[in-house]
Amino acid sequence: MLTPPPHPVKYLLLFLLLTALSASSPALATPSVRVTLQVAPEAHTFTCRYRFTLPASDTTSVVLLNLNRRYKLQQVQAPRAVQQRVASVLYVRDSVQQIQVRYAPNQRRSRYIELVYTGEIGQSNYTDQAVLFSSRSEWIPFRPYQEYEILPYQLTVQVPPGYQVRGTRPPSRQQPCRYTFKGTTSVIDLTVLVAQQFYQAVSAAGPPITFVKTGAPLTHTDSVNLRQAEVITAFYNRTIGRLAPINKFTVLLPGNNSGAYGLLDDATVITYSDFDVAQTDELLILAHEISHRWWAYGSFHDETDWLNEAFATYSSLLYLEASGDEAGYQKELARLAQTTTDKPPIWGFDRYKYEFTMHRRVMYNKGTGILHALRTRVGTEQFLNILATTAAQKTSTNPGFVQLVEQVAGPETGSWLLAELKR
Ligand SMILES: [Zn+2]
Repeated sequence: MLTPPPHPVKYLLLFLLLTALSASSPALATPSVRVTLQVAPEAHTFTCRYRFTLPASDTTSVVLLNLNRRYKLQQVQAPRAVQQRVASVLYVRDSVQQIQVRYAPNQRRSRYIELVYTGEIGQSNYTDQAVLFSSRSEWIPFRPYQEYEILPYQLTVQVPPGYQVRGTRPPSRQQPCRYTFKGTTSVIDLTVLVAQQFYQAVSAAGPPITFVKTGAPLTHTDSVNLRQAEVITAFYNRTIGRLAPINKFTVLLPGNNSGAYGLLDDATVITYSDFDVAQTDELLILAHEISHRWWAYGSFHDETDWLNEAFATYSSLLYLEASGDEAGYQKELARLAQTTTDKPPIWGFDRYKYEFTMHRRVMYNKGTGILHALRTRVGTEQFLNILATTAAQKTSTNPGFVQLVEQVAGPETGSWLLAELKR
């Protein structure tokens, strides 16, 4: 069992110091997004009005927005722009329609770009009972390589009479057929579920964890899963998340069988209709996805993705071990280690030079092995201090993580970690 040290005072002070330092720099206004989504659930179509606003303090002169090529762009408005065009460009491994807007240099006024587009909801994103809009539906435009740019948003969803909407958090405003959500999250993570009927359950103890399901009432298995989500959250709040705990959490269960993915906005989407944490691999999925609430600041596109994926994978293993399944923990570590022999280093890894499976082997599996080795080296107590501080600081770079390890565990361990990342 893992038991956190009772008084992590030293690390709390370190964290407070770092927080104070970052708070002392002037707050910069960030861009923001405002989205109005009109859904026709029966026709499986939607219309979206998307407005991206740059604050006056942001002097960016060229703004690029990528939009999935499946959607029909009806309108682009960019007041004060000197040039605007839409081009088909290659992005990563696919082509997208790119809205390119150019401004005269040194604009010091707030500017917005507004797009209106319509589209069909992809087959993997609806069932007979529900329609899901999430990062997997790729329904939101984003700046190239900044899908996970964290921005304040306001999202209004309009649905026909008889339909309801659920999001990752309760709506800030709700009228018949019109729901408004406000928050701050990764831009492509804006997630809503539209259905005529929802089934809902809330955990009994600790921070409220809400399961929101469509298609069929919650089953006994769902209740067991909910209880497990409650225990996982409590465990993380005592360990990796103790400096920035979860206060509430939503699990969306749309039943469209297209994977599971964690969201920064205190929520996760689990689409499997037969999801059952009695299976160890599914328990690990649930624990992995909940932990992404802390592990989401690396980039999907580069070597810092291990700060997301290896950390989430190792967090799920920590939970498995703490739940009493030491053998399962060892077995899973050994299974992952088998896939990492002679694989390229994490440091400098370029996923786009390799087949997709290599990304998983290096970022997820090799990274998990390094975290296990780090824990073995510094001990569980010190290791949890490192993870809790990393989570609270939202560490997003590899040099930043090495530096943090150095501060907590000393320069020798920092050098050792650097060598591991370069091995
Ligand atoms: Zn993940």
